[in-house]
Amino acid sequence: MGKLEGRVALITGAARGIGQAEAVRLAEEGADIAVCDLRREDLEETVAAVKATGVRVAAYGVDVSDSASVNAMVEAVAKDLGPVSILVNNAGITRDNLIYRMTDEEWNQVIATHLSGSFYCTRAAQAHMVKQRWGKIVFTSSTSALGNRGQANYSSAKAGLQGLTRTLAVELGPFNINVNAVAPGFIDTEMTRATARRLGKDPEEFKNERAQLIPLRRVGVPRDVANVVCFLCTDEASYVTGQVIYVSGAPGRA
Ligand code: NAP
Repeated sequence: MGKLEGRVALITGAARGIGQAEAVRLAEEGADIAVCDLRREDLEETVAAVKATGVRVAAYGVDVSDSASVNAMVEAVAKDLGPVSILVNNAGITRDNLIYRMTDEEWNQVIATHLSGSFYCTRAAQAHMVKQRWGKIVFTSSTSALGNRGQANYSSAKAGLQGLTRTLAVELGPFNINVNAVAPGFIDTEMTRATARRLGKDPEEFKNERAQLIPLRRVGVPRDVANVVCFLCTDEASYVTGQVIYVSGAPGRA
């Protein structure tokens, strides 16, 4: 029997990369899965992979930075699969620039997606978790929270999520809701491949260069993050809350 049977997990930004791996990993433990991404049609591959594990799955085309759409999605999940009991806030974007070139739009888009989006999803989902007196919330921070050139917007959002993690662990703990964050380092996804291209580098070469700077001498794969998120969502981690777990092949930032 899977460790998450009878639970309903909502994963945002699950069309590809880390979110897709998380959806599949939680499904392997028996959770029914709700996935969202900006466009419903982009979720087909994830839906097929989740279905192959034998659990129920529902998919929603939702922008997490739109509070009303998020509220409607969380209510739709309750109708389609049952009330959300696990929330993985994963959706994210980068709009890198040095501070003197960073536009209001680049700043606002990144804060809206990571920080406000995670807040909207969590506010909507926790109402269902409080009623169940059981819940698991995972935020997606980053080693960039520790500071990263060209990412004033992204590192501020990712540091903000660490504050949100600790605060909500305090507020929601009395309702048997665990709130934690993962902070990935370099994970091989479209996000890091796009960064390589923006820097004028070949994605494979960029990956190999970065691997040499990491104590474990490899970059991460989405499943590395998904395994830790899955652990945090099981009752094996029921006495862990308010923590930020770095998944970076290093003690924090490589
Ligand atoms: P990815 O491959 O770019 O996937 C992110 C997904 O989120 C995409 O499908 C994207 O859709 C979706 N998304 C973007 N904005 C959204 C919104 N407003 N509403 C709903 N969905 C939205 O990125 P990833 O590497 O898997 O990253 C996943 C998370 O891990 C992000 O929070 C990222 O910041 C974090 N992270 C990644 C790394 C890394 O090295 N890869 C390291 C640390 C932290 P579109 O394709 O339509 O934009």
